[in-house]
Amino acid sequence: MKTDLTMNTRKRIALIAHDGKKQELLEWVAKHKDILEKHELCGTGTTGGLVAEKCGLEVKRYKSGPLGGDQQIGALISNEELDIMIFFWDPMTAQPHDVDVKALLRMSVLYNVAVACNKASADFLVTSPLMTQDY
Ligand code: PGA
Repeated sequence: MKTDLTMNTRKRIALIAHDGKKQELLEWVAKHKDILEKHELCGTGTTGGLVAEKCGLEVKRYKSGPLGGDQQIGALISNEELDIMIFFWDPMTAQPHDVDVKALLRMSVLYNVAVACNKASADFLVTSPLMTQDY
């Protein structure tokens, strides 16, 4: 595992949600908008578009997850260009790109990216004192 990577105060954060979890993610983003707007946001295509439109945040959009977006986020991680991933994957619905999802989660563990896959973890993560300092 890579443990020598550093994060700046301004974190690079990816937002991803499967269809059954998009509403939940939007509500979570709205709740933490004041924190998230201080950082650099990106996301898979549909999620990123919704966050930008509904929450008024600037989000760099990659391709939609099933069309390669998960792999693009995975490439960011392997290039050491991502600090945090908020990934609300849906445990109740099979995904056509399940292998990509698995690969993305693998890369996030390998590169020691801070990951949250549900609301409680995401709440704890973005309210950590480490969000406002170098790490
Ligand atoms: P989407 O992709 O934001 O384009 O829907 C998410 C995903 O399925 O990984």
